[in-house]
Amino acid sequence: MPQLLNNNDNNININKIRYLIKKYRPPFWVYDGDMICKKIKLLKKFDVIRFAQKSCSNIHILRLMKSKNVKVDAVSLGEIERALISGFKSNTNEIIFTADMLDEETLHKVANYKIPVNAGSLDMLTQLGQVSPGHHVWLRINPGFGYGHSKKTNTGGDNSKHGIWEPKLALPIIKKYKLKLIGLHMHIGSGVNYMHLTKVCKSMIQNVIELNQKISSISAGGGLSIPYKFNEKPIDIEKYFISWDYARKKISTFLKKNIQLEIEPGRFLVAESGILIARVWATKKTNNNNFVLVDVGFNDLMRPTMYGSYHHISVISGDNRKIDLKNMIDTIVAGPLCESGDIFTQKIGGTIQTRKLPEIKTGDYLIFHDTGAYGASMSSNYNTRPLIQEILLKNNHSIVIRRRQTIQEILKLEQ
Ligand SMILES: *Cc1c(COP(=O)(O)O)cnc(C)c1O
Repeated sequence: MPQLLNNNDNNININKIRYLIKKYRPPFWVYDGDMICKKIKLLKKFDVIRFAQKSCSNIHILRLMKSKNVKVDAVSLGEIERALISGFKSNTNEIIFTADMLDEETLHKVANYKIPVNAGSLDMLTQLGQVSPGHHVWLRINPGFGYGHSKKTNTGGDNSKHGIWEPKLALPIIKKYKLKLIGLHMHIGSGVNYMHLTKVCKSMIQNVIELNQKISSISAGGGLSIPYKFNEKPIDIEKYFISWDYARKKISTFLKKNIQLEIEPGRFLVAESGILIARVWATKKTNNNNFVLVDVGFNDLMRPTMYGSYHHISVISGDNRKIDLKNMIDTIVAGPLCESGDIFTQKIGGTIQTRKLPEIKTGDYLIFHDTGAYGASMSSNYNTRPLIQEILLKNNHSIVIRRRQTIQEILKLEQ
């Protein structure tokens, strides 16, 4: 939920933002560590909370997670290295590598460091078995249906590249290489629909019964949504837990052993902790439209362009004038990229949308809310734009957890 900036009880409020703007010079990302801790607590009923680090993979965020006994999911070699450098231990269940394929470098890393692998294809299971017999594995199952906040985040069904379609075929491979099957995993997509949830839990039970292996864990995957708009409801964690706990109990009874229930959220833990602060450098009018141009683009915040995602936008004046919230103007907010899709106010499919915003002047600052997940971690160097700073608020002070990249650093790769 977008945090109201005029509420001084919130760590991220107007005064704090003005202070940060002076200290760090926009554009930059800000994360509120307390908010992350608050979200972790909401999931305490699950035996294991495994942070899907792709949503926000800064090592300082990972260390924060570790200090709260949250474990981590890695989906690439780079994310494994991030987890290790943040203090997560190899040869334990602290890091799990989830993927649908293994390249050679990654294969050797997980083998040498004995990092459990959550396999989304039979091929990777075979390749792993050949190099690392006895390796601990999970099976990521495609239950045959999916759900997601957009087509691009739907991760189950016939059209999904994720997960194993016929998990039974994994059993001979597991046997051949004496792999140790730890658990079954389903990550169906982002966004929660309770009808759908029941279906997923049922499918998990069914898969366990059909495979009939002495697993010790099941994972509910991620996909817990957050309200990006004021009129959206937060998800009912209790309901979510009850559904999965029911599945866990059924499975436990069937296998006659204790089963650990894991959850693997990304967005839920970090989205609401983060904001993106940008400065307005130009405004312009066309026949029918008001444009406001800021110094971040879709290379920084990709979600509106990629998914048509909504991020609430607040305005802070650059000249200390009071922002007039009674006179709202239809506005299009755009970035600096040489590309017409570089618009933060758009719908799925790329239709430009106007947003009711107060009058904005050059020199004002725009705050993009709820950008802690899939914000900085999805940024790119498109248009040769350096990655911007990340700032973490912790125990009432602020630290730079990623400095601004320099243009020289980008060019160096090619020299
Ligand atoms: C992306 C991903 C998640 C996290 O998804 P959220 O919607 O951010 O909760 C969890 N598990 C896997 C395997 C993923 O790929």
